Amino acid sequence: MISSHFKPYHIPLFLAKYAWLKARGMPMLVHFEVTMRCNARCGFCDYWKTPASEKENELKSFADAARKFSPMMITFTGGEPLLRRDLEDLVRAVREASRLTYITLITHGGMLTLERAQSLWDAGIDQFNISLDYLDGRHDTARGIPGLTDKIMRTVKEMRAAGIDGVRFNTVIKNDNLDQLQPIVEKAAEMGIGANFSLYTDFKNGNTDYLIQDGPVDATVRAVEGLMAFKRRFRGVISNSDHYLSTIPQYLRGELPGPCKSGNKTIHIAPDGRVKRCPDFPLDGPWQDYKGYAPIDCDRCYYACRGEAQAPLRPSRALDMLALGRRAPLPVASSV
Ligand code: SF4
Ligand code: SF4
Repeated sequence: MISSHFKPYHIPLFLAKYAWLKARGMPMLVHFEVTMRCNARCGFCDYWKTPASEKENELKSFADAARKFSPMMITFTGGEPLLRRDLEDLVRAVREASRLTYITLITHGGMLTLERAQSLWDAGIDQFNISLDYLDGRHDTARGIPGLTDKIMRTVKEMRAAGIDGVRFNTVIKNDNLDQLQPIVEKAAEMGIGANFSLYTDFKNGNTDYLIQDGPVDATVRAVEGLMAFKRRFRGVISNSDHYLSTIPQYLRGELPGPCKSGNKTIHIAPDGRVKRCPDFPLDGPWQDYKGYAPIDCDRCYYACRGEAQAPLRPSRALDMLALGRRAPLPVASSV
């Protein structure tokens, strides 16, 4: 179910907007990378090496871009967006600029407190996506933040108790956390939040340690089938589309048809305002010059933002949105 910032009567409005954007070939999901700086130390991402001086090049507002694209969903991401002290101002301005847009925030959660969550929720964040790849100490080690997992659990409990009902775990499927996928979903269900999955890629910094393609493909397929079985029984916890989950095995076996269509339904806008077709591609021109991207013969990732962008709008997505008493997504992409 969408967060309580929106009501069921908004769903037909969102669906009408979806049709309107589709007819005009406009992006459904726009990621605002508000900073590339990060205070985690992940081994599979080099964003944390971004010098502090880059702060000078970060846009002071994304509101004009929000107004121009007015997509179904906007995601504030990074880097670690909570490093921006003016994040609430950025969110508030984007909320004002595009009211019928679902606004999400991706964070590692290490700096998220109830107070910060509440001020961001009040500013207009509809959904908090908190990275969580393991339920045990491996997550703290992987992110280089001691005590991170416990902190996430405490904060999410407090957020739920305070009535913040748009919360999800964002989990990257790697070769060493297949045993964690089901427990993460069960933990999310127990806490009254959602869970979203995306497949690992080594494209961020060339770290192949967690790649599945050359390793446990069959075990991954079984784990993903387990997620699909859970989703069939308890719709509304796992927020990926049925399409994305069911095509992961095809991707892993090299059988996914067609070129990648990134850069049309979803785009990324970097801290300095330049656009890129997907998170890990080089930057192009300023967002004001965006005119879409041609399909590209690239198979480097199967991030949710690639797979979900190509998910057809099937009745199962409406069921996801309407799933009562649980959290489910809009019929567009989720993020890494
Ligand atoms: S993956 Fe996320 S948390 Fe880790 S260094 Fe990159 S931006 Fe930071
Ligand atoms: S497959 Fe598509 S989304 Fe993934 S890295 Fe290549 S162009 Fe980007």
